[in-house]
Amino acid sequence: MKYVPAIGLEVHVQLLTKSKLFCACRTDFGAEPNTQVCPVCLGYPGALPVINREAVRLTALAGLMLDSKIASFSKFDRKNYFYPDMPKNYQISQYDRPLCLGGGLAFETGGRTRTVRLNRIHLEEDVAKSMHAGARSSVDFNRSGIPLMELVTEPDFASAQEAYDFLLALRQILVYGGVSRCNLEQGNLRCDVNCSVRPETRSGLGVKTELKNLNTFKGVFNAIEHEAARQIGILEGGGVIRQETRRWDTDAGVTELMRSKEDVHDYRYFPDPDLMPITLSSGQVERWRSELPELPRQRRERLAAEFGIPAYDAGVLAADKAVADFFEDAARLSDNPKAVSNWVMSDMLRLLSETGRSIEDIPVRPAALAALVKLVDGQAVNMPGAREVFEELFEKGGDPAEIVRARGLAQVSDEGALEAMAEQAIAENAKSAADYKAGKTAALQFLIGQVMRKSKGKANPAGVREILKRRLSG
Ligand code: ZN
Ligand code: MN
Repeated sequence: MKYVPAIGLEVHVQLLTKSKLFCACRTDFGAEPNTQVCPVCLGYPGALPVINREAVRLTALAGLMLDSKIASFSKFDRKNYFYPDMPKNYQISQYDRPLCLGGGLAFETGGRTRTVRLNRIHLEEDVAKSMHAGARSSVDFNRSGIPLMELVTEPDFASAQEAYDFLLALRQILVYGGVSRCNLEQGNLRCDVNCSVRPETRSGLGVKTELKNLNTFKGVFNAIEHEAARQIGILEGGGVIRQETRRWDTDAGVTELMRSKEDVHDYRYFPDPDLMPITLSSGQVERWRSELPELPRQRRERLAAEFGIPAYDAGVLAADKAVADFFEDAARLSDNPKAVSNWVMSDMLRLLSETGRSIEDIPVRPAALAALVKLVDGQAVNMPGAREVFEELFEKGGDPAEIVRARGLAQVSDEGALEAMAEQAIAENAKSAADYKAGKTAALQFLIGQVMRKSKGKANPAGVREILKRRLSG
């Protein structure tokens, strides 16, 4: 029998706010443990929470970008359970009246567009972080009270790849919208996965397991692959799947039992009496809608149309908002957008990935790239020279024309000088010259290389080619 997986995701996303969800403590990453805390986020009895408006706005913004309905009335509830990382013994979350309802996201996967439905997006606070070293455990409350939005999809994914591609698209949109940095290393985005399988011939959903706290996309992919195979193995052996919560062990590459799954009534949800419900007027929601930023798909289409670059280029550039911004600024200052796109897609993205730096902290400015393109187009420097200039710009910034001068990279286009070097190259490589005359066109490339070497790489290659061809055709 053939089985098909049905997978749903619960994605916890850290919202890009300066302060926590219910207090004024900062949210900076990497601060000394327990330095960004107060009675509210430490859970002292009697301390009163106050909602962070920006967290509500960002969650609504995410909902609008994902076609959700923004609820005019939503409220906070207490989710009760005991764990050392949560001294209040309840997490403030939203239960039956979340901020955003429904919606969906269309994304590319396996060469086609898929749409996955969202069930809801709600707001909740993060809990503290426990750390274990030998026999000693400690708790850092800096993360306690950090605003999270939890986005819950319907069980629409049929494979690990679909879930993976969805997460890529989701991250792109949330970064574009300024909702979150979605920095996985800093725990900005964590996933729980609901996974079940059912015989292909039967409708409805099988018994599901929940995989907890996956903090990389690759981890989500591997955990789903493994868990779906595990369940199919059990069913094929005549066994039954138990509803339970499992942990993904990255090193061993397996999921293991954490606890048999609690039911929702175990949490004894009830409305938080310390917090007012959130009421939003339609006017407020419409104002937010009017402030929606351009999304990746729209950006892709606009870059192609506005700058006349190929759809492929537009897709690569638009994939990262900061890269697209850089390209756009440089292309506006240049009359050769395609050349700008080539530089950004090849040299710049390569150097960024080699150095592990981000576009915000490199000194090369869009205006400098536009100026470099102008120098190349005006034949003031050839491509190998321009690459050298770009590498210096990437390292130290500066003015391309100045770098060309300082490094003596000015292209030699002077006829007399090129003629003299060509003549010399032919004289020194009589065999290659004869080969070319005998029809071996590849020999020309070798001779061009010889002239380039004599000019220390500064000759105009197109000019050299012309001169050599003329001299050898006689
Ligand atoms: Zn606090
Ligand atoms: Mn949650």
